[in-house]
Amino acid sequence: MVSLVTDSQVASLKRNFAGKVSANEMMRDYTSFRIGGPADVLIEPSSVDDLREALKWAWSLGLPVFVLGNGTNLLVADEGIRGAVIRIGSSLSSLEFDGDTVTAGAGISLPALARACADRGLTGMEWAAGIPGSLGGALTMNAGAYSCTIGDIVREVRVLGLDGQASVRTSEEMHFAQRSSRLSQGDIIAYEAVLGLKPGDADESRAQMSEYMADRKVKQPLHMPSAGCIFQNPAGRGAGRYIDAAGLKGLRIGGAEISPVHANFIVNVGNATARDVLMLMSHIKRVVYEKFGVELVPEVRVVGG
Ligand SMILES: Cc1cc2nc3c(=O)[nH]c(=O)nc-3n(C[C@H](O)[C@H](O)[C@H](O)COP(=O)(O)OP(=O)(O)OC[C@H]3O[C@@H](n4cnc5c(N)ncnc54)[C@H](O)[C@@H]3O)c2cc1C
Repeated sequence: MVSLVTDSQVASLKRNFAGKVSANEMMRDYTSFRIGGPADVLIEPSSVDDLREALKWAWSLGLPVFVLGNGTNLLVADEGIRGAVIRIGSSLSSLEFDGDTVTAGAGISLPALARACADRGLTGMEWAAGIPGSLGGALTMNAGAYSCTIGDIVREVRVLGLDGQASVRTSEEMHFAQRSSRLSQGDIIAYEAVLGLKPGDADESRAQMSEYMADRKVKQPLHMPSAGCIFQNPAGRGAGRYIDAAGLKGLRIGGAEISPVHANFIVNVGNATARDVLMLMSHIKRVVYEKFGVELVPEVRVVGG
């Protein structure tokens, strides 16, 4: 694969940039699936200003930009990602409480945010304790569990356009839907969000989170690399139930396996390629459609190639 970014372009960015810049980083080192080839250039901004600079740099060169959070909902192609990958990580994880609202940086991890809210005696984030993504990824995916989603508590999201221009989106303007939002289009990047919570009891919130975590430990293959649920749940019945009922649990293609623990998880049992996972996904889709007439829709985002 031919890189869209030259060595001298990478060098010039490095000179004017406080964050980390590296060429040809393997995306498998940045995804929970442990799958994915090289990114032409991986940029990790150290601040919102840095993020703006990185966007302007990519914009001026006409490079495609992909925004990476914790990489827990991604299947990255074996060929990797052309252009710039901008990783919103712990450097953008500010946290500020004001009454029952919290303003958090998009790079904060959801479990850390959920714990901080609970410790503060605020309720409404307990469901997020076991979701391994960042706030930015959650805002994009409208992440949720136990009948709650991030969209339910968002007041506003602060974003940058690909040209670096800042703006604010209200909750309505975010168009939260099943595992998607306005951010899914990939043309704006969240750097901060304001969430509205309710006064609660810290011990009760912590106990609720422990219960959810224990539930996940039993039901999900947390010890194996995966990207969480691979398909969205069709109305009325979990995708995993269809896959299980189709007799597919445990099926392997290459290093990708339908988890015997939870049929809607594909796990990487060792050196799985993106191709292995895509072939397994197509097989699942076909068999479930043939047996039940149900069209499964991927929840995992497939990127690169
Ligand atoms: C074991 C396991 C359990 C999981 N359980 C759940 C669950 O219960 N519920 C659930 O909803 N999900 C679950 N997930 C999936 C995943 O954790 C969530 O979708 C999470 O919100 C993704 O966040 P991320 O930071 O990892 O995003 P990434 O995977 O890095 O990216 C996902 C998408 O968000 C975009 N994005 C990321 N950050 C930004 C930003 N700042 N601005 C704009 N776009 C951005 C990316 O471009 C990409 O399109 C699970 C995953 C695993 C591995």
